[in-house]
Amino acid sequence: MEQNKRFKARTETGMPTTDPHEALTKVRRMLERQTDTDSTALREIGSRRRENPFEVLISTILSQRTRDENTRRAYSALFRVYKDADDLAEGNLKVIERLIRPAGFYKVKARKIKEVATIISQRYGGEVPQSFEDLLHLPGVGRKTANCVLVYAFGKPAIPVDTHVHRISNRIGLVETKSPEQTELRLREIIDRRYWLDLNELFVRFGQEICKPIGPRCAVCDLKATCKYYNEVVSQAATPRRRRSRE
Ligand code: SF4
Repeated sequence: MEQNKRFKARTETGMPTTDPHEALTKVRRMLERQTDTDSTALREIGSRRRENPFEVLISTILSQRTRDENTRRAYSALFRVYKDADDLAEGNLKVIERLIRPAGFYKVKARKIKEVATIISQRYGGEVPQSFEDLLHLPGVGRKTANCVLVYAFGKPAIPVDTHVHRISNRIGLVETKSPEQTELRLREIIDRRYWLDLNELFVRFGQEICKPIGPRCAVCDLKATCKYYNEVVSQAATPRRRRSRE
């Protein structure tokens, strides 16, 4: 099969089985064909609120371990009541918890949000810091969230790695890593900076629509020819069935 030849040829070089830039271009094209899909909540909030990085920062905390629709509901409810960091720093914790309840883990997230708002209000004069290191020092802000703020609030090249980005990068053979942090560091080495800004949005949407965690839609995917998971797992599992059905 042509696709297996291409896959084997890449594997033998010891390079990623999939060319990262070609993969990103194909993912973009596949998503363009999906006319019924939306942007991610962060891209939507970021493009509407680029002038308000504080809202993007709080949205990224809300978005941790929940679905986009829950992030949108919690974000809208919260910012209908509180307008900025100073306001939220003075906010009532119980009220914040109630407003963000749709995002899940609302007690922990409410406490972090209030702490973050207090630090930004008191230490940074209400402005979200633009350096990765300063962002990392904020409570509840890890590498993924800090990178999300750089990309979605400030339009600075960074690679936020969530479960979708980690899973897809490993599946298609761009990286062989055990943790999102390892994935981020490896992707930074192999992907040209001009692709960084869009990578998270593309892979998250691709992971929601096509390369789903369970039951990836390989039949409609343009990455089959070089995808490690498809060539090593999906097509291998399908081969005996095809042979059996011919016998
Ligand atoms: S071929 Fe399947 S596993 Fe590979 S990227 Fe496409 S959907 Fe994901």
